[in-house]
Amino acid sequence: MGKLVMIPGPTPVVDSIRVEMGREIQAFGDPNFVKDYKEVIDELGVMFGCNGKTFVVAGTGTLAMEMAIANSTKKEDNVLIVSNGFFGDRFIDICERKGLKADVLKAEWGKRIAVSEVEAKLKEKKYAAITVSHVDTSTGVVADIAGIGEVMKKFPDTIYIVDGVCSTAAHYENLAEMNIDILFTGTQKAFGVCPGLLMLWANDKAMKRRASLGTIPEFYVDFDKWIPTMDDPIKYFATPAVNLVWALKESIRLIKAEGGLKPRYERHLKNARAVQKALLALGFTLLAEEGCRAVTLSNAIYPEGIVDADFRKIIMEEGMVVAGGLGAYAGKLFRIGHMGNITVNEMVTALGIIERTLMRVGKLSKPGVGVGTYLEEMGKK
Ligand SMILES: *Cc1c(COP(=O)(O)O)cnc(C)c1O
Repeated sequence: MGKLVMIPGPTPVVDSIRVEMGREIQAFGDPNFVKDYKEVIDELGVMFGCNGKTFVVAGTGTLAMEMAIANSTKKEDNVLIVSNGFFGDRFIDICERKGLKADVLKAEWGKRIAVSEVEAKLKEKKYAAITVSHVDTSTGVVADIAGIGEVMKKFPDTIYIVDGVCSTAAHYENLAEMNIDILFTGTQKAFGVCPGLLMLWANDKAMKRRASLGTIPEFYVDFDKWIPTMDDPIKYFATPAVNLVWALKESIRLIKAEGGLKPRYERHLKNARAVQKALLALGFTLLAEEGCRAVTLSNAIYPEGIVDADFRKIIMEEGMVVAGGLGAYAGKLFRIGHMGNITVNEMVTALGIIERTLMRVGKLSKPGVGVGTYLEEMGKK
């Protein structure tokens, strides 16, 4: 068996999804594939409450960020960026390269920007768009997407863009219920598929904004280029990633089999709080403050005396891969993903590996507290 991949994306891919990746290729015009592609697009639209268009396109989450900005803004527009970490900041670069005027609300890492602060800032001037990362993977902080959505009702001329790359299909999201105008994600995070596809939902308001822009400078990410294909996938614009679409179709089937997005969130919530309690019991602290901790990953700050490089090398020897810290937290913490189709068995293995690693670096004398805490929490009704 290979190593248990517990980075915050890609996450472990279950066999039924993996099998789809290995299927014999079909032409993208094959009626069977066209039907599957259409089904994926339509089901995603319904599942996330989108009254506009749903796009399923080859590319990663970063391309989706660019797609969101490209189709909702024009040069010189004001954009408000709400940043709770590294991925929030990535929007600054994207916006500045497009010649947008970006204002940034930056949270101290581990905390989140309050809804009231967002509202106050939106009142200052006319913003073409606002971006918020639902979960910032660098900090493990979850933003109040529904709360900001309430405020957005007062700003009908601003497009509300939500980066769901580390949240969609784990944290609950719905465009209609939360007043989100554009939501996007990548397949490798909470959908539990291999990397390679982006999904982007744009409601009617966002589609009207796109129409008002006329011809935009970008080509591959232009909504207008993709709309004919999304409406009828027999039409070619750029080659669809056939096997990834099948893999995504299986992932959607699994979400439905689980009862939909709400039960899926409940499962993630219970698992995450148990993992987080176990990490605290093992002597780690969590970067994200209580009250704004994501359910998709945990960022565990090392106790005094642990060297990051040694710790992650030993974890690797014990059979698991976790991610390091970003920015100012490089060397100070490790990040463990627990999203998608992750199982209790995999979590127990992961915590066992963390315990063995702690023992090898001399930071745990008696094993069991991590796994024990986790199992106790998971056993609660
Ligand atoms: C991973 C991630 C991205 C970047 O996605 P890629 O697929 O790596 O391009 C963007 N935003 C968030 C919140 C992420 O977690």
